[in-house]
Amino acid sequence: MNENVLEMVPFMDSERQSGRAASAREKTAITVAPGDGIGPEILDATLRVLDAAGAAVAPEWIQAGSGRGTSSGIDSASWESIRRTRVLLKGPFATPQGGGMKSLNVTIRKTLGLFANVRPCVAYAPYVPTRHPGMDLVIIRENEEDLYAGIEHRQTDEVVQCLKLISVPGCERIIRYAFEHARRTGRKKVTCMTKDNIMKMTDGLFHRIFEEIATDYPDLEHEHLIVDIGAARLATRPELFDVVVLPNLYGDILSDVAAEMAGSVGLAGSANIGEKVAMFEAIHGTAPDLAGRDEANPSGLLLAAVMMLVHLGDADVATLVHNAWLRTIEDGVHTGDIHSPDASTRRAGTRAFSEAVIARLGEAPRSLRPAGYGAMPPVAVPAAPRRRATARKELVGVDIFVNFREPQANALADTLRLLAGPEFTLEMITNRGVKVWPGGYPETFCTDHWRCRFRAGVDAPMVSPESILRLWSRLLTARIEIIKMEHLYLFDGAPGFSLGQGQ
Ligand code: NAD
Repeated sequence: MNENVLEMVPFMDSERQSGRAASAREKTAITVAPGDGIGPEILDATLRVLDAAGAAVAPEWIQAGSGRGTSSGIDSASWESIRRTRVLLKGPFATPQGGGMKSLNVTIRKTLGLFANVRPCVAYAPYVPTRHPGMDLVIIRENEEDLYAGIEHRQTDEVVQCLKLISVPGCERIIRYAFEHARRTGRKKVTCMTKDNIMKMTDGLFHRIFEEIATDYPDLEHEHLIVDIGAARLATRPELFDVVVLPNLYGDILSDVAAEMAGSVGLAGSANIGEKVAMFEAIHGTAPDLAGRDEANPSGLLLAAVMMLVHLGDADVATLVHNAWLRTIEDGVHTGDIHSPDASTRRAGTRAFSEAVIARLGEAPRSLRPAGYGAMPPVAVPAAPRRRATARKELVGVDIFVNFREPQANALADTLRLLAGPEFTLEMITNRGVKVWPGGYPETFCTDHWRCRFRAGVDAPMVSPESILRLWSRLLTARIEIIKMEHLYLFDGAPGFSLGQGQ
């Protein structure tokens, strides 16, 4: 076995899987959270269908979401339930924009290590109008890292920052999962999209690990696209794509774009997969405009529940429900979001739609491709990757970020050069990533936030934490307002920092 191949763990632990096999109709406890807005209505519709289909699940209800008593929106009893059942089926949670409580979705995904967000986006033409009838792709979005770490700071009057964190184990896990998923579901190609022409280190790492892991899957095609052209192609020719693996932010945006292109955000379900726990939800939000009106499309959550049944090893009921749903769509029973005079025969509310699905249990679609989960080999989830060997790390300088109100790079440089020597040399100053000293152009707009790079002075010994502390102290004494610093390291001789400005 290739040394880089990670250990795989089954989708469910063997105890639970064999338990289900031994007693197929014994009910498996699942945690359910109605959520906010349209959540309670679509969850009710979904559970009605599961119940009528004979799904062997026993819902354990929790209350979580905005205004649920605790500051995080979820209490300890609810956490306990999720950790015990290891499966959460949930409605959407409202997240305040631009301030207030942290996103409960993000908290749950990260706390439970749900590293993979799997979002199938399929067209159901001609029954659901779409410009892309051939669309049938799966977006696999990294779920824990990237700009979603939520580490943000206001640093000066004018500048705020958000840290983008990408890790080797994070990349290894999601990318291997994407290849495993492609293989398990009989897909042919895995596409990775990043912006590594600009973010050479963070997105560059994701891309590099993609190329490394692809060599373990010679049976699958693989390709990398810069995310801007990739997104443009996805939006115009989605039939070119099969499985698409993306860092968190790009994946979040592109999966909504893809779902909407397929017909409606109301149609797409998603799975959030971790080593121990999995969470299933629609990709859409709380749709406050539809809440309490019995108009929302429950399909996204219902298809998420189908993914949950596959996860639980209940392939037969998953197939039964999915095919009844396909037949309902084919028969033209449509909720308002996908209703059209040409393709629909009946406009149904949330509840009536679920009753139409129940009435078709046991039927299969006539022209859409029927679902069939029975033949699929079980999915394997990459276990936490082994730590790589430690690199030789050498401290060679420091970037000190300062708050300086005068838009005068030369004035700042004159002061810093005096304070730097002889231990350090001021190498460059950038403002919002643009080099403004040495050189620089008067046309460049400068904010009050400056990155000042210091390297070892010409005759100075190696840079050390102590010499950096002395530099820091000299700057403080000179009343330079320091915001933060970043050490500059070489890793096995290669720079662990960006060298200049992006393009
Ligand atoms: P949204 O998905 O709630 O709504 C966008 C549009 O799609 C609206 O016009 C809505 O009516 C429509 N829509 C959504 N779901 C539908 C359905 N099932 N049937 C028919 N139409 C549907 O997005 P938003 O308005 O940006 O967000 C509202 C709230 O939901 C926000 O607080 C947001 O943070 C939250 N949200 C939660 C999740 C989640 O819990 N996973 C995901 C996305 C957004």
